[in-house]
Order: sequence, then structure tokens, then C-alpha cells
Amino acid sequence: IWKEICQHFKPLYEVTSFDTWFKTVVPVQLHESTLVLQVPSTLHENYWKAKLLPTVEEHLKETYHHHYQVMLIAEGQQRPFAESTDSSPKKPELINFDHSTHLNPAYNFESFVVGPGNMMAHAAALAVSEEPGTLYNPLYFYGGVGLGKTHLMHAIGHQLLKSNPNAKVKYVSSETFTNDFVNSIKTKQQEEFRKAYRNVDLLLVDDVQFFANKVGTIDEFFYTFSDLYDSKKQIVISSDRMPNEIENLGDRLISRFRWGLVVDITPPDYDTRVEILKKKSLAEGFELPEDALGYLAGQFESNVRELEGGLTRVRAFSQLKDEPITASLVTEALGNLSNEPQTKTENNELKASSILAAVSKYYDVSIADLKGKKRLKRIVVPRQIAMYLMRELTSISLPKIGKEFGGKDHTTVLHACDKIGELIRSDSQLKKEVAELKKNLS
Ligand code: ADP
Ligand code: MG
Repeated sequence: IWKEICQHFKPLYEVTSFDTWFKTVVPVQLHESTLVLQVPSTLHENYWKAKLLPTVEEHLKETYHHHYQVMLIAEGQQRPFAESTDSSPKKPELINFDHSTHLNPAYNFESFVVGPGNMMAHAAALAVSEEPGTLYNPLYFYGGVGLGKTHLMHAIGHQLLKSNPNAKVKYVSSETFTNDFVNSIKTKQQEEFRKAYRNVDLLLVDDVQFFANKVGTIDEFFYTFSDLYDSKKQIVISSDRMPNEIENLGDRLISRFRWGLVVDITPPDYDTRVEILKKKSLAEGFELPEDALGYLAGQFESNVRELEGGLTRVRAFSQLKDEPITASLVTEALGNLSNEPQTKTENNELKASSILAAVSKYYDVSIADLKGKKRLKRIVVPRQIAMYLMRELTSISLPKIGKEFGGKDHTTVLHACDKIGELIRSDSQLKKEVAELKKNLS
């Protein structure tokens, strides 16, 4: 249930507020109709009580057609319900596979700024929303984090619903698809699962890189795909990498993906970034002078989400200080993030070399091998960890990190960072090692 809640609310909040209010929460118990959540502080408790409880309870009611109550406890507080010792089998929860309402209203074509890096993707998205199932099927977006893949997918959904309000649109992340599939087997609701996924006009599956190595899910997705494809229903997929770079995706899906159109999205150029900032600030009802816009656009090059984060920070700063937004205010607002330019580069260089040295020593791999091209696993993983640490601990840009590692592409660096990020979540040994390395470095 908690996973489902997170999936539902994640797209509805800014990343930072989602991280603050949801990621810090631990689901501790589900007792009959009471979901017990542990929050880290009274501040969280108050915020939840004031803002989130009613919405979450409402959402649960809609999703599960059942009235769940959410109860909050503080960290360290005892669980309110005795753990049940009886082994009577639990009633399987009725799963609701309907995620159609998960489109974020803010992600539409009107709010999307077109530039050289996303022009193809944008055109294909528009075409597909006008003539689903016929032109480019499937449509496959690939590109780095925060470049607008999810935004475009939602936009396709909105657009199709605009011209055909009866169209059945389903947007899911690949994780939701996986969870639904796994749960459908557990609770013997495969029939419902298939109906929910195959009885649609447009299926949007986001971030399919998370299908990597999940062979059972990949098989099921293949059947879903084929069924939709055969009945000329539109499928749109996104990923941070090319189909053939997703481990164990299987040749038949890879070749199916090639039947359609694969388009990449590359980072926005300067003008596009300025446009995005203008549009975003206008939508939120404030304005920035040209030089402030320019300065801000110059600070964030490879990720629109970070660019938006910068804008939010600048705005908050201006409100706190009760001063108008000027270029110097922007400099000041971002100042805490990036120190003075000169010392910043020096600092980064120093950190980069100490990261290489530390990783080399820890894993007994030479620095030359870390920077080299060898594909041996005992080298690849440390290499990716070193990239990951550079991304985490320094402000060196992705392309420059790539350069550090013998001229690799920034997308390679991104993949490495994502991969390690993923492993940290799933592999406790690796998590320990990275934590230890970080400790040594601080
Ligand atoms: P991705 O799915 O590729 O990681 P998102 O679609 O989540 O990226 O985009 C991250 C943020 O940047 C979103 O808030 C989105 O609205 C915004 N964004 C990305 N590209 C554009 C663009 N071209 N125009 C306007 N906003 C954009
Ligand atoms: Mg996305």
C-alpha cells in the first residue's frame, strides 16, 4: 500500500517536498484498516496531520474502495498493534490496476519548451497523440534524467484525451507494471491484470530500464506489447538508455522496439533553458530580469529538473529576503551551492583525484584501469563507483567527469551513476562499501 501511495503522490509534488514528506516516512504496520506510519519528527507529524492525512486517506479510498485510516507514530515509539501470531491466511487485497488518473496536469504540450535537443521527440509525441497506433508504434524516448521524457509522455496522454475524451489512457512506471504483475500472480488476479493493461488505447510505460534482468516481467510485458500492437493500440516507452543497453531485455522486445521510432532527447541548449525559465516563472506568477535569467540558465546545463530547482531556490531566497530578483540576488542564492568559481575548480580537481586514489586503493584496481576501457567486472564496478562518487561529492559536470575517465560520453557517466544508485538500494554489501569510501573521503 505504501509503495502505491508513493507512486501516486510522487508526480504530484516537487521532488524536494516529496523527499521531505514521503521518503522520510517508514510504513510500520498494517492492522486491519489502519495503516501505521512512522514519521521522523513532530514537524513531520504536524505537516502530515494538516496537509497529507486527508488526501492520502481519500486516495486510499478511491484506489482500494475501502476506508483505510492512517495513524502516525514518532520514531522509537512502540508499534500500536501487537504483531499477530495467528497464521490464518490473509485475505488477498483486491488490487486496483487502474492508474489512468495518474497524469500530471502540469505536464502538457503547452508548458513544454521545444529546442534542438528535444525537437524530434516533441514532434513524434505530437504526431502520436494525433494519430495513435498508426504512425510510430511503439514510440521510444531515451535520454538522461530530467530532460522531459515523463513530461512528454503525460502530454501525449492529455492531448489524446482532449481530442477523444473516451480514449483509455494508461500511464505507469515500469515499476508499477512490475508490482502489478507480481501482485496479480500472488493474488490470482492475472485475468484482471491483463484486462487492465490490454484494454487501453494508449499505454505509456515510463523508465523501462527498471525492467532490466526481471525476466518474468519482461515476458509479460512482451505479451502485453504484442497484444496492443496487434490491435493497433499506441505504445509509448521511455528509458534513460537504448533498448539494447537494458540488461536481459531479450532480443524479441529489442527488435519490436525497433519496429517503431526510437528518438533521443539531449540536454537543452542555452536559449531553450532561458525559455524554460521564462515559461516556468510566468506560470508561477513572477518574473526575472534578463540578466538574472541568463545567469541562472548558465548554471544548470544538463538537467531541466535541476534548472527548475535553481529557479525555486532563487524565488524562495527573494521572498525570504524580501528583495526583488536581480542577477546579484541569483548569484547569492546559488552561492551556497557553488563556492567562488576559482576555488571551486581547484577544490573539484583535488576531490576528483582523491576519489580516484581512494577507489583504486579500496578495490585494488589501478587508476589507469579505472580511467581505461577494460570491461572486466572487477574493474567496471569500481569505475562506476568512482564516477558515482564524483557526481555525488563534487560539482564537476557530467561531461567533465566523462573526460576524467578517458573521454567517456556523459550518458555513460549517467548510466554509471544510476546503476550504482540502483545497486545501493538493492545490494547491502555494495552499499556498505560505498558508505565506507565516502567516510574515508570526508
Ligand atoms: P525525465 O522524465 O526525462 O527524467 P521529466 O519529464 O521528469 O524528465 O522533466 C523534469 C522536469 O523538467 C519536469 O518538471 C518537466 O516539466 C521539466 N522539463 C523538462 N523538459 C522541459 C521542457 N522542454 N520544457 C519545459 N519543461 C521541461
Ligand atoms: Mg521521468
